Amino acid sequence: MEKKELEHLLKKENLNSKGNKLKLSEKISYIISKLDELYPKPEIPLNHENNFTFLVAVMLSAQSTDKKVNEITPKLFTKANNPDKMSKLGVNEIRELIREIGLAPTKAKNIKNMSKLLLNEYNGKVPDNFEDLEKLPGVGHKTSSVIMSQAFGKPAFPVDTHIHRLAYRWKLSNGRNVIQTEKDLKKKIKQKYWNKLHLQMIFYGREFCKARQKKCECEICKTIS
Ligand code: SF4
Repeated sequence: MEKKELEHLLKKENLNSKGNKLKLSEKISYIISKLDELYPKPEIPLNHENNFTFLVAVMLSAQSTDKKVNEITPKLFTKANNPDKMSKLGVNEIRELIREIGLAPTKAKNIKNMSKLLLNEYNGKVPDNFEDLEKLPGVGHKTSSVIMSQAFGKPAFPVDTHIHRLAYRWKLSNGRNVIQTEKDLKKKIKQKYWNKLHLQMIFYGREFCKARQKKCECEICKTIS
């Protein structure tokens, strides 16, 4: 039998090269290699100029799409691309600039207060640790994780709706809640993969494994399920 044909059969039967069922570590290795093939260099999808504008963009992205955030941030960042300028804008002015985004009134207030706190407590710099990030108005654990991972390159695994759904469908977590999903993923996947993998999973979820997926026959599930 041809090597390729054999590999295909083994995958179809969910077996490894020794003929045993795939172990968890083998399933994870397969997922990582497949996502590396599809998204070798995943780029941060939110446009930004610096860590401050990145934090603002991440705050705006809650319950909105990255596309929408990228549409409105150029105007906002032209007016204010640092905490000093942002804190000088009125809440109403910020709200008007971000009005097309969901939860604009709350987000405008949080962005103004977050900018003031950065100026007063952190010399206008975005902190690079969870404890301080999570003290900022409107900045929760998920936003902090994105900043730690994507702005500072520190190990974190932000779990959004796509990652939560994929982790459940790929049987890496029981889908109870995002806190549990984050714990499970961090326990099962080596830390060196977290930062890249969380972006790759988001991209895969958006492209192939949508919430209401009609056609459901990806190679990944055929291999690991
Ligand atoms: S087959 Fe594809 S779309 Fe269906 S759950 Fe698996 S990865 Fe998602």
